[in-house]
Amino acid sequence: MSAGDIAFFEGELVPLEQARVPITTHAFNYGTGCFEGIRAYWNPEQRQLFAFRLGDHMRRLADSARILKLDFDMEIEQLCAVALELLARNGFEEDAYLRPIVYKSEHTIKVALTGLATSFCMYAIPMGAYLDIDRGLSLTVSAWRRIGDNAVPSRAKPTGAYVNAAMASDEARQRGVDEAIMLTGDGHVAEASSANVFVVRDGELVTPEAADDILVGITRDSVMRIAQRQGIPVRERRVDRSELFAADEVFLCGTGVQIAPVTNIDGRRIGSGKPGRVTVELQERYLAIVRGMTEDFAEWRLPVYAEGRGAPDGAA
Ligand code: PMP
Repeated sequence: MSAGDIAFFEGELVPLEQARVPITTHAFNYGTGCFEGIRAYWNPEQRQLFAFRLGDHMRRLADSARILKLDFDMEIEQLCAVALELLARNGFEEDAYLRPIVYKSEHTIKVALTGLATSFCMYAIPMGAYLDIDRGLSLTVSAWRRIGDNAVPSRAKPTGAYVNAAMASDEARQRGVDEAIMLTGDGHVAEASSANVFVVRDGELVTPEAADDILVGITRDSVMRIAQRQGIPVRERRVDRSELFAADEVFLCGTGVQIAPVTNIDGRRIGSGKPGRVTVELQERYLAIVRGMTEDFAEWRLPVYAEGRGAPDGAA
């Protein structure tokens, strides 16, 4: 991974190689941290980088931190300001990805949450599409169940919980497909290893409800709001495994995958076997919105550069 050169660590922007944690750190031993993944999109015409729904991600980070008793003293506005400065200082002129982490930085082997020192750090990496979102993904329903809210809180995004996600996505790759769908402990559709899932049937969008052990995705919310504005009905409800196979269309959505059509699940063709019409329409809208190619949902985009980035080096 080649990251941006500048990171935020122990209260300041520093060269990335100085942002190091000792092996005795609590979070390194026990996964007691929480994090976010946030995209920023480069708009070449405007020579501007737009952070997407930055405030909403930072609010979820603060919620995660509270749930995990990670007491730290940064306000959401301050987190957003640091994020924008970090992106600007790295000088990105391409799509990028931000990774803020709040973690138990105490040096102790005590298994606990209360009263342990907490730290905050953030780095950024250049990132284009990380799955091919044009061709349609093949999925498998994982043998690994999604961790339930009564085991590890679903409304938080704890670093340690991603052992569960890694088990499922690794299994999918071992089976020769792109991604895994995870079921809840009682066997209903929850989500993919790090993305939410939508089913399209008879022109209606259906997605598992928040109580079914999903991470309530910000992209999921964006999809629902874009769909509503386009007049597409949306329902959040319990989804059965066989509904996936009987769907007209299935897609994944998340900061990383963006909107990714699914055309095969466990060897069964979904719909026509090609990315579906509703999915492609939503994907096109979404990609235009995030990059600032339309005025729609302007409130979701925060410009990184005060005056745009100026002309490229060597240009008039
Ligand atoms: N579920 C899980 C488990 C995830 O890790 C992610 C990625 N953050 C998502 C869903 C999608 O969430 P978002 O749209 O907020 O990125």
